[in-house]
Amino acid sequence: MPRQYKRIPPAQRFWKHVDTSSDCWLWTGYRLPAGYGYIGPSIRGEKHQLAHRVSYELANGPIPDGLVIDHLCRNPPCVNPAHLEAVTHQQNTLRGNAPSAKLALQTHCKRGHELTEDNIYRDPSHPNQRNCRICRRIRSREYKARKRIGQ
Ligand SMILES: [Zn+2]
Ligand SMILES: [Zn+2]
Repeated sequence: MPRQYKRIPPAQRFWKHVDTSSDCWLWTGYRLPAGYGYIGPSIRGEKHQLAHRVSYELANGPIPDGLVIDHLCRNPPCVNPAHLEAVTHQQNTLRGNAPSAKLALQTHCKRGHELTEDNIYRDPSHPNQRNCRICRRIRSREYKARKRIGQ
């Protein structure tokens, strides 16, 4: 390693290329055609890497073998560790085609209630799914009513 290069901690070098002004932290360096942030090989011999994978590892430590990093926000250049989750390749593929991915684009639930941020609740075990609070209230009311009349 040439001595004249100052040692800058990897994390510090990484965050220089990130725009954190919005909820999604966008990689401002080179991006692949698919939109993913991409880090080329450096003079220090580091290999090609995807920016969101680097971000995940800086925040959480090494990615377990066989897992891929999924964007909960579906925004490929985003490197916000809070929006990244390590999943199996199969989970990632399923998610891409799953109804939840399509639901994320919906503005109204299936009963026609508007899906504003105030009317959305997220199940901790399915953070990708946007559920309608009004429908949820209706369901729980129906459940209680059924219980009252003993059905
Ligand atoms: Zn994001
Ligand atoms: Zn609804």
